Amino acid sequence: MTREPVAEPLTWNVAGLLAEDPGADRAYEVAGAVVPLEEGLGLAEPVAGSVRLRRTNRGILAEGRLSAALAAECARCLRPIRIPVDIRIDEEFLPALDLSTGRPLATEDEPDVARLTDHHELELGPLVRDELLLAEPIAPVCRPDCPGLCAVCGLPLDEGVHEHEIDEIDPRLEALRAFRVDDGG
Ligand SMILES: [Zn+2]
Ligand SMILES: [Zn+2]
Repeated sequence: MTREPVAEPLTWNVAGLLAEDPGADRAYEVAGAVVPLEEGLGLAEPVAGSVRLRRTNRGILAEGRLSAALAAECARCLRPIRIPVDIRIDEEFLPALDLSTGRPLATEDEPDVARLTDHHELELGPLVRDELLLAEPIAPVCRPDCPGLCAVCGLPLDEGVHEHEIDEIDPRLEALRAFRVDDGG
């Protein structure tokens, strides 16, 4: 077990474990693992936790609990916020190659199962990435009652005083207001 950040985060070579009998297992600590997400979405805290890989009759069962935090922005006041995400891993990975002959297996029979790579590596990264993307809220807020930004000065309404003098109002807004009054009669 190691707590050092891993060079290839969330990827393990399981060739040794595949050679053992069903039930054999290995425990791994994960720390500081970074998963590329998508444009504009990053991690406020890298992925950390523990993973256990267990030899099954057919392949390797990955079980574990990981946590991370997404870096987002409040949809109302635009302050940076951190969204903690807990990820539970429970997925069986089947070999891509026949273990005795080394030939590729007919994976098209079971297209939806997770597969080890041709190099007997178990890659948890794509699974973790999907879970993180699923956890991203559509409109995250820094707190449920966030009042958002002041329409006059553009600063957060929960900071400072917003009793603005009339001449501080954006001239374009002022023009609009005058127009409305005239229009309404
Ligand atoms: Zn906010
Ligand atoms: Zn203001």
